Amino acid sequence: MKAFIVYWHPEPKSFNHAMFLGAQRALVDAGWEVKTSDLFAMGFDPVSSRANFQSVKDPDFLKLQIEEMHATEVDGFAPDLEREIQKIEWCDLMIWQFPLWWFGLPAVFKGWVDRTFAMGRTYGGGRIYEDGMFKGKRALLSLTTGGPAEAYAKDGFNGDIFAILRPIHRGMLEFTGFDVLAPQIVYAPVRMSEEQRTSEIDKYGQRLGAITRESPIEIGQY
Ligand code: FAD
Repeated sequence: MKAFIVYWHPEPKSFNHAMFLGAQRALVDAGWEVKTSDLFAMGFDPVSSRANFQSVKDPDFLKLQIEEMHATEVDGFAPDLEREIQKIEWCDLMIWQFPLWWFGLPAVFKGWVDRTFAMGRTYGGGRIYEDGMFKGKRALLSLTTGGPAEAYAKDGFNGDIFAILRPIHRGMLEFTGFDVLAPQIVYAPVRMSEEQRTSEIDKYGQRLGAITRESPIEIGQY
């Protein structure tokens, strides 16, 4: 059992970092082999450009998906991308740990998706959704919010959290073939006591210890 955890937060003493470490501990204790990408610590470059490639298909006009397909054919991805793509290909379970920013992934994390989910290598040629290249793998979002749980209920002032997460669940993960597990959401950790936060990390660890027994969720249409 192989797990890959991708994480971004700019503060190593953050609650997100504690969740990231807690997940690693729990998975290793449960017998998983774990690889990680701490995007902030790595100084990961989120900007897609010609730097994504060591190869060149068209030197006159940069069309990323054309270059991605070419790089797939000639093994021409830049080393920093190649390392990340290989970790995705290697894992059975991929976890994304992040704070919800503007109803989505923080920019560096989104840039990691923009660069690593490359056409030809991770989708394309009809290989999407049920026929996606990552069919058989599972994915789990682990996130924190500033707003409380009631703000993210269906009738809450922010609206249903599952609708907010749909672009990630459906547009990124299911699109490339992943089965999506229920998200792990810690609402408003800032407003919790130290004990409540510790308990959230423990609950998450217990869940991960038994994660192989979980079934994927249905992603609604909204
Ligand atoms: P932190 O502030 O790092 O941690 C909370 C507390 O946990 C701290 O006191 C910390 O010391 C403590 N802690 C750390 N480690 C441990 C440990 N091991 N055990 C116990 N306690 C620990 N919120 C929304 O709801 N919707 C949005 O759209 C949104 N957009 C945002 C956009 C931006 C640009 C920014 C900056 C914030 C936004 N937020 C939004 C708020 C953001 O989601 C929250 O601030 C964030 O999720 C909180 O998580 P954190 O890891 O940063 O918490």
